[in-house]
Amino acid sequence: MSLSVLLTLLSDCLLAVVLFFLFWYVARVSRNVQGILTWGAAHLFYTIGATLLDAGTAGFESAGLATASLLSTHLGATILCGGMAGLGWAIVRFVQRRPLHPGEVAAVPVAVAVPLLIWALGGDWEAQSVALNCVELLVLLWMLWHLRVLREDPYRLPARMMMLGCGLLAVLYGSVVPGWSFSQFGFDEIWVSVDLSIWFMLNFCMLMLCSFRAAESLKLSAMFDPLTSALNRRGLHGELSTWVERNDRGLTVIAIDLDHFKTINDRHGHETGDRVLQRFSETVRSGLRSDQLFARMGGEEFAVVTTGTDREAARQLAERLRNQMMRLDFSPAEGRPFRVTISLGIAIGDSEGEPFVELMRRADDALYAAKRKGRNRVEMHP
Ligand code: GH3
Ligand code: MG
Ligand code: MG
Repeated sequence: MSLSVLLTLLSDCLLAVVLFFLFWYVARVSRNVQGILTWGAAHLFYTIGATLLDAGTAGFESAGLATASLLSTHLGATILCGGMAGLGWAIVRFVQRRPLHPGEVAAVPVAVAVPLLIWALGGDWEAQSVALNCVELLVLLWMLWHLRVLREDPYRLPARMMMLGCGLLAVLYGSVVPGWSFSQFGFDEIWVSVDLSIWFMLNFCMLMLCSFRAAESLKLSAMFDPLTSALNRRGLHGELSTWVERNDRGLTVIAIDLDHFKTINDRHGHETGDRVLQRFSETVRSGLRSDQLFARMGGEEFAVVTTGTDREAARQLAERLRNQMMRLDFSPAEGRPFRVTISLGIAIGDSEGEPFVELMRRADDALYAAKRKGRNRVEMHP
């Protein structure tokens, strides 16, 4: 191995350390970006493993240190395989935004077991290289499989670039498995520099994906009410502006207000009041279609916005929500369980595309009529 390859590999390790701190920083400042720290750590392990395996083995050997060379081979292969499978973990966590399934968790231990087994069986550098090329290939395919899910803008372009990178690496690693393809077994300078450039691109795309994800969660948190996860006023108006363009059928607004909510706060405390608001919101959301909007307009006042101007359908929806709410039991920390009712006011838009603000005002009028008539009822604006 030439000095320049050794220097390239060592500087790559340094870059992996810098990248790890970058990924760590991104993970710290942005909530809701899963898998990013795993990616940074796994990439660092992978790079250290590759350097030990490639540069360490050859370097110690040329210095006449046979045992150190052997240790470098086996330790390098083990760390490399663990790191590679860790990258797969990171992609699953990032793309799917969920904890890993048991089968996925097993990827790292299984990947680490492969080079350890070869070590135990007395395999050499060549055997380790074949094994880790196979592990790399499998993990790259696993990553490709998950990355294909990121089809939406702005994730699409960096995800496609990563897929391209993974594909190229798969070809590169596949080609050096002896007997598999055209290439000579072993590394050379061109091989190393192509490999490192692709990894550089993968890391760059990963950072891009993370910054998009972080920006998305910031945007979402500005649109939703943190207590109930319903849209806030701003979020509702934002959604409506894109909505009205798509639906020219007119809107229906149902204004909802919890009855005697102040009494619930006074009697059971604000925390119980908050829990009532949360469960009320969950109940309403579970009863709505995905194309119906639900927003917290302030305090204990909410609104459901739906397309279409069918009076009977609107009344049925409002009655269903009222009945669902009436059936919920709330158990405070102290005192007896209680129930909460809601009053609802419906306003149906005219066919000329009545502005939302006007509709909301009419729905509120109907809501106050429902309050005046004794609460726990639905009123329709004439
Ligand atoms: P009505 O049946 O006429 O609607 O009576 P009400 O008591 O529900 O109405 P009122 O407007 O008098 O009181 C609303 C109360 O809602 C007052 C306020 O303290 C409470 N509230 C508003 N926002 C929150 C919140 O986020 N959490 C809790 N726990 N209470 C809230
Ligand atoms: Mg109220
Ligand atoms: Mg109120």
